[in-house]
Amino acid sequence: MNDLLICNNKNSPPTFVSRSGRGWPDLTLANSIIFNFIKKWEVMDLESFSDHSVSECAYKSGRKKAKGRLPMKFSFWNPELRTLRNKVTALYKKYDILRKTVVDGPEVQAAGSFYRKERAIFKLRLLYFRTLAWRNFCIQHSEKFGAIFRFAFKKCKKAFADDLALVTFGRTRKILETNTNNALDLISQELNILKLDISIDKCQALVFRSISSRSLSKHNTTVFNSNPSFKLNGRSVKITKTLKYLGLILDNKLSWNPHIFGLYRKAYNFCSNFNGLIASNWSVSPSLLKFWYLTVVEKALLYGAAVWGGALTKSQIAKLRSIQRMFLLKLFRAYKTTPTNSLNILLGIPPLHLVTKSLFIRFNIWKLRSDKFRELIDPISLDFYRDINSISSNRKIIICEDFTDYDYEVYTDGSRIGDNVGFSVCFFERNSLLPVFCYKMNSFNSVFQAELAAINFAAGWALERNVKIKVFSDSKSSIEAIRSPKVKSNFVLSVKDNLYNAKDLVSLVWVKAHAGNPGNELADHFAKIASSCGTDMSIPAPYSYVKRVCKEFLMNEWHSYWKNSTTGKHTKEILPSANLDLLISNKYVIYLFTNHGPFPAYLCRFEILNNPDCLCGEHGDVDHYLTSCMYTKDYHLLLPTGAARTHWTRKLCKNYLFLNRLKSIFEISRKICDDLQRL
Ligand SMILES: [Zn+2]
Repeated sequence: MNDLLICNNKNSPPTFVSRSGRGWPDLTLANSIIFNFIKKWEVMDLESFSDHSVSECAYKSGRKKAKGRLPMKFSFWNPELRTLRNKVTALYKKYDILRKTVVDGPEVQAAGSFYRKERAIFKLRLLYFRTLAWRNFCIQHSEKFGAIFRFAFKKCKKAFADDLALVTFGRTRKILETNTNNALDLISQELNILKLDISIDKCQALVFRSISSRSLSKHNTTVFNSNPSFKLNGRSVKITKTLKYLGLILDNKLSWNPHIFGLYRKAYNFCSNFNGLIASNWSVSPSLLKFWYLTVVEKALLYGAAVWGGALTKSQIAKLRSIQRMFLLKLFRAYKTTPTNSLNILLGIPPLHLVTKSLFIRFNIWKLRSDKFRELIDPISLDFYRDINSISSNRKIIICEDFTDYDYEVYTDGSRIGDNVGFSVCFFERNSLLPVFCYKMNSFNSVFQAELAAINFAAGWALERNVKIKVFSDSKSSIEAIRSPKVKSNFVLSVKDNLYNAKDLVSLVWVKAHAGNPGNELADHFAKIASSCGTDMSIPAPYSYVKRVCKEFLMNEWHSYWKNSTTGKHTKEILPSANLDLLISNKYVIYLFTNHGPFPAYLCRFEILNNPDCLCGEHGDVDHYLTSCMYTKDYHLLLPTGAARTHWTRKLCKNYLFLNRLKSIFEISRKICDDLQRL
């Protein structure tokens, strides 16, 4: 009927026991499918805290118990292995008995070597059968793992090529069509040979028009009125307006609008992931949140900024600002009306569109060697990265042996004082100092480069005279760079080449700096002199210099942006300049700096109150409560004016006494606001 069966056991004790009586009212019902799986049903002898007893129902598990880790037909054990194993065990027993009875003798050694030989044979066979079994298991198994295996061993008939980009061009539509179709034919032929197939449904084409062709379009000469058609194996490829490739959304006008607008969704997902983390006051420290924003969120949002960040339009900048605002508000719990500019300044996070611009410039200078930004850096003076895959590993990893017999002891050191960089190399011949070499480098060179140049100079000196030297350097990073195979800088690689040539003559050891080693102290002393009046040496500027210049550029841009912004006037009075290290996360200090907080003047501005005046009758803004209101008399502060104020604000953020005072003032002002609202 309704396919329900009673599972209760006929001989079970009563399920209901009370003072008035006992009975079997509790039934367990199941349909026939489940009923077949029920193994036992019994009333438990347990305290159930009611008149009814606890009953237990055990099911037969539908799943068979897995033996070990592999439930399927994976088995490698066979009779051959068994006989081998038994043989080895017997041999071992024999050997063991011999070893214990006859302590030392040729027959013990013979038995031992025989046993070990047989054991080796057994292990080999074991390995062989296991490999074989694994291979069979993988091919026969219908799991996805098997599919991958079959794919890898070319057992499959069909596979799909992933992410293939074809870039063609043509002056007219017709030329473009022929160029593209020829290339597509060629690709499909090549793929046929490889037994690969292209899914045409997934193919997209994007057509860009050059700026010159757009200007000609008025004369109706070289433009196409309809989209060109591209055919692959007789089927036409869909032509779209946007195309996602390698994480960037390209559009047919190359305006990057779809990409930047698409970032909003990405940012929203990021933000919502962290709702739980940042909900309360005491959860994650603000400096950690800032770090998280700068290292994860900003990096993810600005992926590919070097490509799309070149010429942002006003609406794109506004979009980027609003994306960043979402985070700033969320992470630092400020009032929703706080201007984004003020938030940027208070939290020490530069505006997103300016960061984008600086990344774009960095990419242009370092990667593209563009001289468009000549006023920042001249690309000719830059170091560059080399392809290290083509360099043999013994030239990449230089290991300088530590010899004990050498002709000269050499101490090297680099130094930077302000903008002056230099290095010195001191040679000692049997504890007597030879003339010291001092070199001055350009201001854009790093100390790391100076240290390496010093080692390089010493190696060149040794090679020239064919003498053995032992170099003592206090720079761990340069020694690491010489040993590391991953360094791509052309300058470092050229130093490595020289060291490779002088490999038998130079040994390199690290000494602790400023640890009282007289040679090292001497080299340090001369390096300081060298940085101001050494012989000039020219070495290309490192990547770190490009980064530094771009950061300076960013700070300058941010500074002028802040100076010219119309919002955040109150904050600007206190903090006239931008600072990356600033992080004001205390909400009371944010109230003080932004004038956005529980003040009647603020609430009136945003139409929550009708009157901007305090209960005492004066204009109720932040300064009123800090300095003159009669209700906050006990906590009044003396506000410094002018330039002293900036310095004062920097210090007060760490002063707990001050913060407590501020808290008391704003709690009073909040109460006043509540009272005013109730009136
Ligand atoms: Zn007042």
